[in-house]
Amino acid sequence: MALIVQKYGGTSVGTVERIEAVAQKVIRARQRGDKVVVVVSAMSGETNRLIALANSISEFPDPREMDVLLSTGEQVTIALLCIALHKQGCPACSYTGGQVRILTDNAHGKARILEIDGGSVNEDLAAGRVVVIAGFQGVDEGGNITTLGRGGSDTTAVAMAAALKADECQIFTDVDGVYTTDPRVEPKARKLDKITFEEMLEMASLGSKVLQIRSVEFAGKYNVPLRVLSSFEEGEGTLITFEEENMEEAKISGIAFSRDEAKLTILGVPDQPGVAYSIIGPVSGANIEVDMIVQNIAKDDTTDFTFTVHRNDYHKALELLKETAEVLGAREVIGTKNIVKLSLVGVGMRSHAGIASTMFETLAKEGINIQMISTSEIKISVVVDEKYLELGVRALHEAFGLAGELKE
Ligand code: ADP
Ligand code: ASP
Ligand code: MG
Repeated sequence: MALIVQKYGGTSVGTVERIEAVAQKVIRARQRGDKVVVVVSAMSGETNRLIALANSISEFPDPREMDVLLSTGEQVTIALLCIALHKQGCPACSYTGGQVRILTDNAHGKARILEIDGGSVNEDLAAGRVVVIAGFQGVDEGGNITTLGRGGSDTTAVAMAAALKADECQIFTDVDGVYTTDPRVEPKARKLDKITFEEMLEMASLGSKVLQIRSVEFAGKYNVPLRVLSSFEEGEGTLITFEEENMEEAKISGIAFSRDEAKLTILGVPDQPGVAYSIIGPVSGANIEVDMIVQNIAKDDTTDFTFTVHRNDYHKALELLKETAEVLGAREVIGTKNIVKLSLVGVGMRSHAGIASTMFETLAKEGINIQMISTSEIKISVVVDEKYLELGVRALHEAFGLAGELKE
């Protein structure tokens, strides 16, 4: 008897009818003899609706109260799914994150899971019940409700699979697997049967929202077999493998992009030891993640320093940078939210030269100016104006021969 954790995303549970269809899928898995733990998201649009409600009252709502608010989305779904399972004669029991005791730190809105004790999940499973768990939420040591960041139900699922030592974690979503790039931006994108864990980690961290990055990190750390599949069609989906080699020996496996970027520049700072720290220190201190960093060559003993952050953190980072500018006597602080990051990902890059030049040539031919570049062993990222996102993705997809058959 296998233990399977299945996660259903927002679109998959977007209506009562879809919730009933999910109940049938869960029952089929149970009839195959598997024990099933189900993790669900809020019904599609619900989390955004709740955020908009809060923002209609206040521009900066209290993070603790935001988590109390947002966690209700998933709570609705667990109850409705259990009601649907009961109606079809399947014993099932719902759990909020706090009831499973998914213990997190207290970083509201982006909490990290520290420990899962499992509560009475194992007893329920042993008694033949399906266990339905609210994704995206946990509880901190003080008993406060926390949430895990957008897309966090993926992480709940993988963390539950790790804690319960499940045989497989299946992420059911509105596409039938992981593609060479987001099929909504490039209809010629091709589904991958397998992707290495390392590549999936890069794709997720560089913006492919099909899996939340922390879910992939968890899968890697605890060796959780992970598969992305369609909620609506039968199929094998995409398996995230732990094999070293890229199965298809492609140079590039995929193209990721992120619209969530913002760029800040401080101009005319003194070129001396400690300046980078004076600039980045306060930003990191405010729990803002800094992504790309570029420092220009000094001219007249001063230099310019540019970095990117998540768009949500832009205003906070800008405020901090203005304070730093006064302290350092910098000339000016400028910034923009109108940028995106495009990235090529592939373990095959290690053994192939010339990827960067093909990438830059392709973008140049399309008249796309590159504002920043960063590279690692298995990825190359560029920052460009957001108006070039679709054009850039499609041109690169073509240039690296990633296209499959046209999807209708
Ligand atoms: P869910 O609500 O099920 O968690 P998400 O919207 O979070 O669904 O993730 C699925 C979406 O991820 C797809 O609809 C697709 O637009 C997007 N996506 C981005 N990059 C990729 C990719 N490389 N492969 C497949 N889907 C991708
Ligand atoms: N409901 C949350 C969100 O919309 C979590 C999730 O769906 O994974 O981000
Ligand atoms: Mg998601």
